[in-house]
Amino acid sequence: MSERSDVLVVGGGVVGVCTAHSLVERGVRTTLLERGEICSGASHGNGGWIFPSESAPLPGPGAIREALPWLLDPASPFWIQPRASLALLRWLWDFRRACNASAQRESFGLRRALSLASLERFGELAKQLDFGFTQRGLTLIFQTAKAMRDAQHEVDLLEAAGGSANWLAVAALREAIPGLSSELAGGLEFPADAHITPGDFVRGLAADVAQRGAAIETHTEVLGVEWSRRGPVRVRTTRGDFSADEVVLAAGAWTPELTRGLGLRIPVEAAKGYSITVERPAGHPDLPLALAEGMVFVTPMGSQLRFGGTLELAGLDLRMNQRRVDALARTVRRYLPGIPRTPTVEIWRGLRPLTPDDLPILGRPAGTSGLILATGHGMSGISQGPISGELIAQLVSGETPEIDLAPFSPDRF
Ligand SMILES: Cc1cc2nc3c(=O)[nH]c(=O)nc-3n(C[C@H](O)[C@H](O)[C@H](O)COP(=O)(O)OP(=O)(O)OC[C@H]3O[C@@H](n4cnc5c(N)ncnc54)[C@H](O)[C@@H]3O)c2cc1C
Repeated sequence: MSERSDVLVVGGGVVGVCTAHSLVERGVRTTLLERGEICSGASHGNGGWIFPSESAPLPGPGAIREALPWLLDPASPFWIQPRASLALLRWLWDFRRACNASAQRESFGLRRALSLASLERFGELAKQLDFGFTQRGLTLIFQTAKAMRDAQHEVDLLEAAGGSANWLAVAALREAIPGLSSELAGGLEFPADAHITPGDFVRGLAADVAQRGAAIETHTEVLGVEWSRRGPVRVRTTRGDFSADEVVLAAGAWTPELTRGLGLRIPVEAAKGYSITVERPAGHPDLPLALAEGMVFVTPMGSQLRFGGTLELAGLDLRMNQRRVDALARTVRRYLPGIPRTPTVEIWRGLRPLTPDDLPILGRPAGTSGLILATGHGMSGISQGPISGELIAQLVSGETPEIDLAPFSPDRF
């Protein structure tokens, strides 16, 4: 079998589905290939935050010093599984190079621009689809005065970029959020941010894409990609060959695997995170929280409540580390000791596709033909997904991308 489209999109996560959506909106004949079900990767069990206000990238001044004590503790919020990998060493080297104030400032502006543009698109899409889009801000909760002082740097970056944040007193926090600990230092609200139920968004949008005429081929695993200067790009899959003028590789943390043998360096490391979804306790407010020192999110999603976080560089390893799940549950109890226990809906882990500079990779690699990369969204794939899809569709259609793609070039490493 060899099926031909204008564009093949590989990956049915938020980035692939948003790309397919923006393509079909332009009348491009599109086929999306997904090896499992739609939204079976990182896009399923995440925090659902759209957070232009918190756009500081992971690398920054002091990031390595702060993370060092955690590296020795496999239950800490950030952990690197020791392993001999040249790709990981190069990734860490590039990460270190991005740990400076000017790179952080520049990256903040770029990441914020992506998230703000996505936020606008989420608002538009919410008029047609129901995915729990709620724009009531995000609130950080601090247990220590030191963490609050450290957060001032993020507020400075935000205010310099034209955003705003409000410091909150403990009494106001405890009034708004039942079950919160009294041993707190304070809170910080980012009123412009929003949250969604990510699975509902990706699956709903994929259904819309199919209805508009795109082919969505699930249970179709891509085994290899071949391109030539003259002909179409050919994609070998477990369900035969597909070909197209262009192929968009949006396979999240697995994207480097797909391009093996093409001579491309795609520094994307899998950064594993966990979430626990429970039935939402009665009266729990529709207000997403970040438990700051524990680096844990708490997001209400309809009748459910999701806790999650942690970042583990362990390669493409989806094994569940119970110590990390237990540490996550303990952190939630520390901040929210009074929250009633409710039945667990799902314990989940996913692999974030993380680049060393914490910017996505969007564009055509130099020296190739018909290949486009759309990956590396790290902790922010929901926040940046809709605009990433739009930028890729603009590139395919020969339009001038509404945000300059140069800083996201695959050739920057
Ligand atoms: C715990 C946690 C919390 C998070 N919270 C947030 C948040 O609050 N806000 C936010 O913006 N981001 C958040 N993220 C990050 C976000 O989830 C990711 O950045 C985003 O989901 C990445 O989307 P993606 O489409 O690139 O990858 P994925 O969703 O992983 O999709 C890639 C798809 O490609 C498919 N695939 C892989 N290989 C092949 C192949 N060979 N053939 C065919 N298909 C293939 C996979 O099955 C998968 O469905 C969080 C992540 C985690 C883990």
